Formats: sequence, structure tokens, C-alpha cells
Amino acid sequence: MDRLSDAAVEQFIAVRRDIHRHPELAFSERRTAALVAAQLGAWGYEVTTGLGGTGVVGQLKRGTSNRTLGLRADMDALPIAEATGAAWASCAHGVMHACGHDGHTAMLLAAAHHLAQHGRFDGTLNLVFQPAEEGGGGALKMMEDGLFDRFPCDAVFAMHNMPGIPQGQLVFRSGPAMASSDYATVTLHGHGGHGAMPHKATDVVVAAASLVMALQTVVSRHVDPLQPAVVTVGAIHAGEANNVIPAEARLEISVRTLDPQVRRSVEQRIRELVQLQAQSFGVCAEIAWRAGYAVLVNDDQQTARALAVARKHFPADQINPQGPMVSGSEDFAFMLERVPGSYLFIGNGADGEPGACMVHNPAYDFNDHNIAPGAAYWIALVNELLSPTP
Ligand SMILES: [Zn+2]
Ligand SMILES: [Zn+2]
Repeated sequence: MDRLSDAAVEQFIAVRRDIHRHPELAFSERRTAALVAAQLGAWGYEVTTGLGGTGVVGQLKRGTSNRTLGLRADMDALPIAEATGAAWASCAHGVMHACGHDGHTAMLLAAAHHLAQHGRFDGTLNLVFQPAEEGGGGALKMMEDGLFDRFPCDAVFAMHNMPGIPQGQLVFRSGPAMASSDYATVTLHGHGGHGAMPHKATDVVVAAASLVMALQTVVSRHVDPLQPAVVTVGAIHAGEANNVIPAEARLEISVRTLDPQVRRSVEQRIRELVQLQAQSFGVCAEIAWRAGYAVLVNDDQQTARALAVARKHFPADQINPQGPMVSGSEDFAFMLERVPGSYLFIGNGADGEPGACMVHNPAYDFNDHNIAPGAAYWIALVNELLSPTP
């Protein structure tokens, strides 16, 4: 099996900690992107920078096959003040790598380094380092800049660490794996008036209150009970004084689903309820729908291939072939809408062990013990999927 040398493991732990020390927010990953580009270039990759803002693609061709493979890592950090106390803690005030994207970048660089020296593959390898996974949709921005037109991929894969799972465990899942996240702002327009003369007004507060309750039926009465979905009204704003009926009310709604069809149907039902509720109270409604990340759906066939590689190169107790769905969202979902592939998790540490602190927490840190198995998995995947003797 292809493993990193001890020296290489140390080298890329140092790279991980260097990136950790210098975290950069979405679309500002200039130092990180420059570091990635310089290393890939030095190892013989053809490097393209500036894709989707600060995205980087490193391409390595071997042999004569026209098969292509894409591996993706994310590079951005979060607006969180670090509280790990680590020697390699963030030097940037209020910014930290609290989701382990420093580790994802380092694992993929470690694999890139090894593959450039020892890769036994036949085909084209595209390594995608994307900006702005944390809400900015950097994956989509790279695709809008022609990612898959300029660097076609037969399949794409990505790996994310996950606290609460034993360190180094590889978790696969076929089918829907992570939630869509959509947002809507509903504005109700009525006719304001005196609180003592409601018959001279059309009251948006009563309409908004009724709408909040009506929205509770979307999940409980409209969606298949065996399908997960969340509709949350997270903010409601109307009025200033007890004796004034306001003319406007605003509701902020957040929607999560784990199935593309349920996603469409929930949006449709919310739009209907907003209009019909507003109508029944004699007020007008506007709805501004903002589509967020899509449902992340792992391709069955590509997931089976990814799992088969793990089974060939890793012990069985280090593999979970069908993990649970995760209610978080991930913009790799957009890449999977375009190219078949699969997204897997690597355990960052079981509960009670180092690495168990959840991502997006000020005390979280990527587990450096994952540099070796994470890179080894990428190396095995490339050598198997682009095997010279298919
Ligand atoms: Zn995150
Ligand atoms: Zn993340």
C-alpha cells in the first residue's frame, strides 16, 4: 500500500499548522491559495489560479488514457475567535480554521506530493482547491468560471473530517447525505392604523402570527413523515408601540431538506401558504426566496467504487460503508449535481478522545493524525480509479 513516509507526514503536519496559523475568510484565501499553487507547481503540476476568485486547480497527466478524476478540498476559515490554546493557534484576530479546511487542504497536498513522485496511474488528475465553502458557494463560483469545462472530470470526490467519529475512520454513504439549505424573507404589507380602531386597518401582526402557525403544517401535514425536513421561522419583526397597528411585518424563514423533490415541494407549499394566508387577512405578501446549497446526493456507483478502494487498502474496522445523513450543508453538492461522485467523512476523534470537539466551536482543531490516512486514501483512490490496467 502506498503510504506517506514519516518525513512526509511531518512535513504536511507542518503545512497544516502553518495554514491554521494564517486562516482566511471566504474568497480572501490569497495566502493559502498562493501556498497551494507554489507547492503544486514545484512538484510538476500544471497550475491554474484565480478560478472562482481564489480557487486553484492542479493538473497532473500520466500515460495515454483519457480518463479523468477530480479531488476537491476547501480552503476557507470561519469568523470565530480561536480558543484552542494550541501552539499553532490563529494569528488572525477573530478568524480561525474551526471546520478543519486547513486539514483538508494539507491532506490533499500530501497526496499530491506523493502522487507526483510515485503515482502509478494512467489518466488526468485534477486537484481542486476551492474557496468559500462556508456559505459563500465557492464551488459554484469555480463552476461558473468553467471548472468542469476546462478540467473535465469523469468523477469527483471530497473528504471532510467529522468529530465524534473515531479518528481515521472512513464513512461513506450512498444517496442523499447532507441537507439543502434555503432562506426566505416574507414581507406582509397591510394598512396601518390606531390600535383602538382595528376595523379601520388591515393588521399584519395577526396575519404574521397566523402564518407562523400555518407554516408548522408544512412538515407535519405536507411532507412524507419518512422524509426529514425543517421549516424554521427564525425572526419576526413588526410594530413599535402598543397602540399602533403597523403597516408591515417581516419574517425570516430557514428550510432544510434531504431530498431534491421534497425541497421543491416544501418551497411550493410555503409560497402557497404565504399567499393564501395573506389573502385571508386582506394583506399583501412578498416572498424573496434565496436558494442556498443543494441536497448533497452521493452517486451510488461512484460511492461503491470509493468504498471498494477503502476495503482494499484499509482494515474493515476503519470503514463505515453507510453512515447516517447529516443535517449540515455542503456546497460540494453543486459539483455532484454536475459530475457523479461521492463525499466521505474521516473521523476526527470519538467522543471523549482528542479531536471530538465539534466543528464551528472555538475549541475545535483538526486532528493531525488524519494527515497520513487521509492522504493514503486519496493516493489509493487515484491509483485504483486511474489504474494503468483497468
Ligand atoms: Zn464548516
Ligand atoms: Zn467544513
